[in-house]
This record gives sequence, C-alpha cells and structure tokens, in this order.
Amino acid sequence: MNAPSKLTFTVERQREVVAALRAVLPSYCILYNEEDTRPYECDGLAAYRQLPMVVVLPETEAQVIAILNTCRELKVPIVPRGAGTGLSGGAMPIADGVVLSTAKFNKLIKLDPYARTAVVQPGVRNLAISDAAAPHGLYYAPDPSSQIACTIGGNVAENSGGVHCLKYGLTVHNVLRVRMVTIDGDIVELGGGALDAPGLDLLAVFIGSEGMLGVVTEVTVKLVPKPQQARVIMASFDSVVTGGDAVANVIAAGIIPAGLEMMDKTSSRMVEPFVKAGYDTDAEAILLCESDGMPEEVEEEIARMSAVLKSSGATAIAVSQNEAERLKFWSGRKNAFPAAGRISPDYYCMDGTIPRKRLADVLIRITEMEGKYDLRCANVFHAGDGNLHPLILFDANKEGEFERAEAFGAEILALCVEVGGTITGEHGVGIEKINSMCVQFSPKEIEAFFAVKRAFDTAFLLNPDKAIPTLNRCAENGKMLVKGGQTKFAHLPRF
Ligand SMILES: Cc1cc2nc3c(=O)[nH]c(=O)nc-3n(C[C@H](O)[C@H](O)[C@H](O)COP(=O)(O)OP(=O)(O)OC[C@H]3O[C@@H](n4cnc5c(N)ncnc54)[C@H](O)[C@@H]3O)c2cc1C
Repeated sequence: MNAPSKLTFTVERQREVVAALRAVLPSYCILYNEEDTRPYECDGLAAYRQLPMVVVLPETEAQVIAILNTCRELKVPIVPRGAGTGLSGGAMPIADGVVLSTAKFNKLIKLDPYARTAVVQPGVRNLAISDAAAPHGLYYAPDPSSQIACTIGGNVAENSGGVHCLKYGLTVHNVLRVRMVTIDGDIVELGGGALDAPGLDLLAVFIGSEGMLGVVTEVTVKLVPKPQQARVIMASFDSVVTGGDAVANVIAAGIIPAGLEMMDKTSSRMVEPFVKAGYDTDAEAILLCESDGMPEEVEEEIARMSAVLKSSGATAIAVSQNEAERLKFWSGRKNAFPAAGRISPDYYCMDGTIPRKRLADVLIRITEMEGKYDLRCANVFHAGDGNLHPLILFDANKEGEFERAEAFGAEILALCVEVGGTITGEHGVGIEKINSMCVQFSPKEIEAFFAVKRAFDTAFLLNPDKAIPTLNRCAENGKMLVKGGQTKFAHLPRF
C-alpha cells in the first residue's frame, strides 16, 4: 500500500481559508482536521495521493457560488469531487487547495416520463436515476461498472461510458443540459430541453472537461425505454486473435450489439472463483455479446450474432435463457476490477482506445510487454468500442514495481496512439495520463485546449495541472509531439 500523503500547506493559510469559508458556509459543511480530510486524499487511482487543505460540502447552488467567489479572491485552487471513483486522479486534491464535494447535492429535482427526461443535482448516483425512472419503464442508458456509486456530476466531467454505450452512446449523447457555476461565480446553462440548441455546442465542449471549466450544479438527462428483453451470448475462443477478429466481424456484419465485451484468460480465471458465473476458464478469450429490444428482434439478432461468432472460430457458445442467467454472465465482467484484488495486492487500470480491427495485434503486443516489464496484465474491456482496460498487476511494496507498472501503462497508451487510437476511452486524463497527452497532441492542439480553459476559468483555479499538460512538461518528459515540420520547442517557455 502507498504511504499516506503529507501536509503541504501552512497552518496559517489553512486558518485564513477556513475563516473566509466560515463567513459563507455553515461550519458543518467545512472539513479541515486531518482525520476528516484524509478520506479525500485520492480517488479510485489510489497510487497518487494529496491531503487537501480544506474540504467543503455545499448544499445549495448559492453556497457553490459563494465558495467559488471566496476561493477566487484568495487564489485557492478548487477540485470538484463526486463519489471519488474516478480512475485517473481527476478528483485528487491539489496542494493548498479546496476539495468541493457534491455528496450533499444529491436530489432528484424532476422526472418527466412524458418528455423522458430527469433533472438531477450533480451528486445523484448514476444508478439512482435508473431506479427512479424504473416505475415508468424508463432508464438512464450510460452504465459505468461503478454506477452503484459514481455520480452524474462525475459522469459529465469524465464523459463516462459503460457496457451499453456501444448502442446507446456515452454521457455526451445522453445529457441534454448542464447548469454550472464558473470561477467568476456566474451561472451558465449549456444545452437545453431539446435535442439541439442554437449557438456553439458548448455542452459538448463541457462534457468530458474533467472539472476544469466549471462546477456542475444541475444536469438534465435523457431517459430511454427499458427494452422488453435482453439476452447475452457468452462465446469462448482459443486465442485472443480469433476473439479480437470476432469483435470486428460482428460490427462488420452490420450488427450493433447492446454490449460487446471481452475478457482474456487471466481475467476470467481472476473473476470466476469470485462470482462463479460459469466462465470457460480454459478459453484464451471470452466474448459477451448482448442483444436487447422486442423478443422477436432479440431472437433474430442472437441468431445472427451466434452465426458470426461461430464462423469467426468460437469454440463454445452459451446464450442466457432468463434474466437471472444474463445477470450471472455479466457479473464477472462487472466485478472484474474488484476481483483483481484477489490475485494481486495492487492493480493499475489503463484506459485506451484503438480501432477495433487492431484489437488482436494490440493484445499480442501487451502480452510481449508483460515479459518486458515482468508484470502480469489482465485484459477486460469494452471490445465493441475498441476501449481497452488492461489491468496491470503489481505489488507497491516491492521495490520498483509501481514504477514498472507506470512505464508499462505509458507504453500501452503510446501503442494505442501508434495504431490510430487514443490515450483514453472513458476514464479521462486527470493526472494519470497527462504525460501521454504530449504523445497524442501537438503543441498547437495543447494550446487550443488551454485557450478553452482560459475562456471558462479566467482565474486558472479549477482543477489546475490536470488533463492538459503544459508545453514545458511535455518537453521535460521528452514527449513533445512534432507535426508538420514545426520547431520542436518553438513555443517555450509558455506557462
Ligand atoms: C470499479 C470501477 C469501475 C469503473 N467502471 C467505469 C466504466 O465502466 N466506465 C467509465 O466511464 N468509468 C468507469 N469508472 C471510472 C469512474 O467511476 C467514472 O469516471 C465516474 O464518472 C466518476 O464519477 P465520480 O462521481 O466518482 O467522480 P469523481 O471521481 O469524484 O470525479 C471525477 C472527475 O469529475 C470532476 N467532477 C466531479 N463532480 C463534478 C462537478 N459537480 N462539477 C464539475 N466537475 C466534477 C472531478 O473534478 C474529477 O475530475 C470505474 C471506476 C471504478 C472504481
């Protein structure tokens, strides 16, 4: 386990900030004693930690505005935080900073079954929206595996995805409107109740902005009808290459499954003792391929998908016969991350996206990297989206293992870019992949990102030093991407 982080702020500064916040917030909404702030020192990426100077838990939008005004006046950085399940360090505190938690901001404001929308506060859990919509035969489609805990505010900030996003889209496709507060204390509404809104599409710019542009205070989401039926195929393959090719073949056949996920042998052996889902632990790869809709539609699609999987070399195929069995088939995939804890003291979850047709090549290259870094890696991922989640297994107590895991992860991300993909699919950049941004983007592109940040966050205080690397940082890491004959460090020093 990594050691707890140390204090990096002065007691005088903490007193000053707490006193100013007390003027605008009730005392019970402000935490500053170490035993209270320690739980906020990291998100789901626990390898990186920073004890916050102060944590605030506002209950109203007026309080959010007051906090932002106070922090701006005192030049205190602010890190918004939902449930802290993020996997890229996005909600990790900043030294000398305030963490703004939305834990108390968790009310469902309005559910309109006729318009098929719900208006919620940012601290509402993802699954709680679907639970509230269920009596109307509706649900909120994006379903991160963390949906029991993660919040809609965090989902908006990370543009989160999930198993069903292949068919139903990511957060950006399922959010109609966001209300947020800027660092200047202004309320801004992006998007609207309709499918399109006049003006520039700032909603799409904001979704996925990782808490760097504003604090979300309200979200309007789309709800979709619950399909009458869903069934899932579990198919075994004797190599990751045939499994990977089968994924590409399903999509090439013109089918968009409701979910198309892959687990390699290390993953299925990791989860099977935990969930007892009946996985074929001798298979080199397992595909879970779901169909949903009217029963007739599902039957026809299951038959078509089974035929493609068989002709792609599946060695065994099982189709769920009822809802309990469907959930059992999914249980291993949904619990893969916690199951990693059974076979390794620590794991590092990577998140990159590649073109589907390169799945097999990339999985082979990852296997070669296991030898190079002398670390095991379990692959479990949203195969239909080409969104990889290699889980690099390591022991932080063993000298050098964490550093090797980090280097292994960075090489996987570089490989994703090399084959035409990206360094993140859904977990965001945060602090984790900030150096890999230099591999993917040119100095001009990075400058454009900073220009957008400056336009929203004039004081540069909202989640600074996350997601967008400074050009100095890229140069220091020797990772400056040079495109089209540009001079390598022409733009330095800049920030
Ligand atoms: C076991 C496990 C499984 C996961 N599976 C998936 C998956 O399938 N798909 C997926 O996409 N992700 C997955 N994740 C990652 C994570 O759950 C998502 O990124 C989620 O959206 C984070 O939500 P949160 O409420 O925990 O946000 P946090 O981790 O608290 O914050 C995430 C980011 O959002 C910002 N933020 C939070 N609230 C606000 C707000 N109100 N205003 C502005 N910015 C805000 C933070 O500053 C931070 O940058 C998984 C994580 C775990 C631990």
